[in-house]
Amino acid sequence: MSPQKTLFHISHSRYLQHETDGDDHPEIPARLEEVNCQLQRLARTNQIICLEPCEAERRWILAIHSNDYLLRFEETALTGHSYFGHPDNRLGYYTYEIALLAAGAGLAGIDLAEKEPHATIFCSVRPPGHHAEKSMALGFCFLNNVAIAARYWQDKYQRRRIAIIDFDAHHGNGIQAAFEESPEVFYLSIHEHPTFSFPGTGYAEENGTGAGIGMTLNITLLPGAKDTEVQNAFTRQIEPALEDFKPEVLIIAAGFDGHRLDDMSGLAYSSMLYRFFGQEIAALGRRHCQGRVITILEGGYHLPSLGESFTEYCSGLLQSTEEVGKCSSVAL
Ligand SMILES: [Zn+2]
Repeated sequence: MSPQKTLFHISHSRYLQHETDGDDHPEIPARLEEVNCQLQRLARTNQIICLEPCEAERRWILAIHSNDYLLRFEETALTGHSYFGHPDNRLGYYTYEIALLAAGAGLAGIDLAEKEPHATIFCSVRPPGHHAEKSMALGFCFLNNVAIAARYWQDKYQRRRIAIIDFDAHHGNGIQAAFEESPEVFYLSIHEHPTFSFPGTGYAEENGTGAGIGMTLNITLLPGAKDTEVQNAFTRQIEPALEDFKPEVLIIAAGFDGHRLDDMSGLAYSSMLYRFFGQEIAALGRRHCQGRVITILEGGYHLPSLGESFTEYCSGLLQSTEEVGKCSSVAL
């Protein structure tokens, strides 16, 4: 019998308190309830270690967002407004603190990855982050969890060369904007073509600016794109690009809304594609980064597909991992 694999799952019960209800908003607490149900399934064949993050300190948030924006965000939440900036970005009284907790998950994941380099780490957070820009909430996102994590990894641990792979169905405009001038952070996104999809950015021609030219790779897919196209793009474009870049660490923006049953995009992925992502990403992490990889949840709105895709992705990550050392924490 093969040794049991370990998944470190970083999440917080308070993420369920981020209120977006009304008007059939798709980004709802039930998304994480679905993920938590699936964890029980994964726990049948793997060890699951659950960790709760702290709020990210303000200094790490300020590395990506403006002080004025943070003040406006906090005030909007505390004064009882139902949305921030655009009706898509619904919020409740606790949303500001919960967003700080969501940003904290990536930082906790990085601390763990530094202590346990081959640990398999998934951060299940709400609200998501990859559309949030320096001074703008967008697409259900308030704080850019992935971008904040990348800066933290650089500033706290001096990991300069960071690759971010974003497989959410939508382009992560906020991550791109944060690092498009940086020669040290390589943003690679595979998403539905911006002509057909929110937020309308992420054309293949957008490849970075100034010193960051060549450090943004946008791979666009037409509506209806299936697993094979994505697998080909991954092995023919993403893997060689990382071979050249040689990242020290990997951060994954994991959105599951490219699933064929998720109507937030026109993509037609199967759940098994996410197992492929997991396997390939674990292998890339071992090849380039001594296993230092963290994954942070972005989108995924069709609940059964989100749950199944999450399970396949984690199974893929775990399938090829080497067993990590023992950590003293709470096990399910
Ligand atoms: Zn998305």
